[in-house]
Amino acid sequence: MHRETRLLYVDGLTTIADKVAMTNTISHELVHQWFGNYMTMEWWDHFWLSEGFATYYASVGVREVGSDGTGGQNFMPMERMITDVVQRALQEDVLPTRHPVLYTALTENGLEVKYSRIVYQKAGSLLRMMNIVLCEDIFKAALTQFLKNL
Ligand SMILES: [Zn+2]
Repeated sequence: MHRETRLLYVDGLTTIADKVAMTNTISHELVHQWFGNYMTMEWWDHFWLSEGFATYYASVGVREVGSDGTGGQNFMPMERMITDVVQRALQEDVLPTRHPVLYTALTENGLEVKYSRIVYQKAGSLLRMMNIVLCEDIFKAALTQFLKNL
């Protein structure tokens, strides 16, 4: 479920911040066609994988949409990922409430932890880091091969 401001554009009312959030939300959900729908996790413990890929590739998607100069680049998606995802993950990762991305929920309360925002942020940050370390072409080729082998 998403708030209306995350999906509905209203000329004259929608702010730039809303447009940025809206674009990112739509991109995130589109990524789930591959990571979440096509590649489905074996069990909920691996929830972090689909949300990590959706978080990271949402930014890449916005960047690519804007590569023809129509707007996505103006949203600075890769820079926003650093401030909105990586830095927040690092800030939360020093708190006593931190937890690993691979988390087995043993209680009902554990489910809230499993689906907390930090899982999205940490997993997206991990995948961003892997992309940087491996180089985008190699990372993309490996993911493409992985998806073809499913
Ligand atoms: Zn998601």
